[in-house]
Amino acid sequence: MRTQSVEETLDLGRAFAKRLNSGDCVCFFGDLGAGKTTFIKGVVAGLGGEGVNSPTFVYLNIYEGQVPIYHFDLYRLRDEEQFLEMGFDEFLFGGGICLIEWSERIAGSLPPNCLQVTLSHLGKSEREVAIHEKVSV
Ligand code: ADP
Ligand code: MG
Repeated sequence: MRTQSVEETLDLGRAFAKRLNSGDCVCFFGDLGAGKTTFIKGVVAGLGGEGVNSPTFVYLNIYEGQVPIYHFDLYRLRDEEQFLEMGFDEFLFGGGICLIEWSERIAGSLPPNCLQVTLSHLGKSEREVAIHEKVSV
């Protein structure tokens, strides 16, 4: 699918949210600025998420929606060990919905059957969004 604006990417995220169930994990791929966070904002809105951003948790935003939503941005994570040291792995199996940017950093800790969403930069305001169901990463 292609989107031509931020609003279209948000809409796609909102629509995608409908297919998510508690316990699902979604890994996002794409360069900085590809639109991962934008899409995730749509997903959170679609799940009725209310932000409870904690400044101490720079890697994790937690939202209370129909189920708890855990949005990880692991761009600045040192390595997988740091993720485990912080006890974040408990969120991966906590029955909420996990939305993970830069999941490449924690490849060995991911649950099986993550959904995969890849965003690519096509132009100034055009993005390609590819969704893959329940593939192991
Ligand atoms: P990422 O999380 O992948 O680094 P962000 O969602 O934070 O990306 O940023 C995407 C950037 O691209 C924003 O500055 C946004 O305004 C811009 N943008 C332009 N067109 C689009 C589009 N179609 N979808 C999403 N973002 C877009
Ligand atoms: Mg981002």
